[in-house]
Amino acid sequence: MLSTMSRQTIDANVRAQLAELGERVLGGGSITRDEALGLFNLESTADIFDLMAWANRIREKFKGNKIHLCSIVNAKAGACSENCSFCAQSSFHQTGSPRYGFVDPEPVLEAATEAKKHGVTAVGLVAAWKGLNEGPMLDEVCDRIRELASSGKTRPDASLGIIKSQKVAERLKEAGLECYGHNLETSRRFFPSQCSTHSYEDRIETIGYLKKAGIKICSGGIIGMGETREDRCDLAFSLKEVGANVVPINILNPIPGTPFEKTPPLPPMEILKTIACFRFILPKKEIMIAGGRTVNLRDMQSMVFTAGASALMVGNYLTTLNQPVEKDLQMLKDLGLDPSWDNHDFADQDEPTQSSNGCRCGDAEPVAT
Ligand code: SF4
Repeated sequence: MLSTMSRQTIDANVRAQLAELGERVLGGGSITRDEALGLFNLESTADIFDLMAWANRIREKFKGNKIHLCSIVNAKAGACSENCSFCAQSSFHQTGSPRYGFVDPEPVLEAATEAKKHGVTAVGLVAAWKGLNEGPMLDEVCDRIRELASSGKTRPDASLGIIKSQKVAERLKEAGLECYGHNLETSRRFFPSQCSTHSYEDRIETIGYLKKAGIKICSGGIIGMGETREDRCDLAFSLKEVGANVVPINILNPIPGTPFEKTPPLPPMEILKTIACFRFILPKKEIMIAGGRTVNLRDMQSMVFTAGASALMVGNYLTTLNQPVEKDLQMLKDLGLDPSWDNHDFADQDEPTQSSNGCRCGDAEPVAT
């Protein structure tokens, strides 16, 4: 395992080990959990830059210079029955986030028009509730998805919480849903300390129903909640196991009124290192930087791509603001990156390491269900 000793010059041993792991991943191989944990435990800025250089090469090899852009619409806001510690939309926390019922067609189609104008691949309907059962609400949700799909403007995505039956997943697929956001959030070990109203297994089971229905999976997590590096490492391996197609990494933006309101932010280099480690573990997946990037990375936002990210959540998040899309597009242009991703790129991905039976809840700052 790589040394964790802090130093500010490149350690020759670390350099050699990074080269060995990097070449292995570039050659189509994979790294073990112990090897990955060594990467998460790197301390010096010099070593982290070396790690990022390899992660960038891995991104370039498997993702080229294409960057996948997604956006979201808060389709049902606030008053969620669940107690996710990081979420401004939980009814357990007194926050100033908006509250309203499920949206009419117009705001969704307006969001799709705006997204298309900026070359954004997908619009995801995100609802702050525990999940979906069969009934009138599912009918209404399917109507919104159908309208979005038939508009032909963007890929119709959704993040609608926990699903408890195969039938619900099939209905969403029939309505035209292509990709479902459902985060695992963190490691299986750390999750129960952050949410007690549903389980990690509920999230894993939901992903299983969706995959069986032929729906692509957008599943990642949120970092900066006090989890250990080991928790981040285990999250990445869990996402590999469930076969997530898109892996959003959210960085905690402490919202007043949540238990995290006074939580110190993660240092930017720790965030970039985490992204790079995810690229080593998930070399062919879309690693998307979602909520919290503006407030946590500030002027270092563009470095997410040199750390291995291949996708970006653009536009505003559910409860907080992002920088303008135009600024993000300029950033990509300045980096020589191309936002013209299309759905065929999903086909280039690895199959999951094993079959397995998690809401984009908490995406971002945090993006809810
Ligand atoms: S993350 Fe999702 S399930 Fe959890 S409180 Fe927020 S909206 Fe509800």
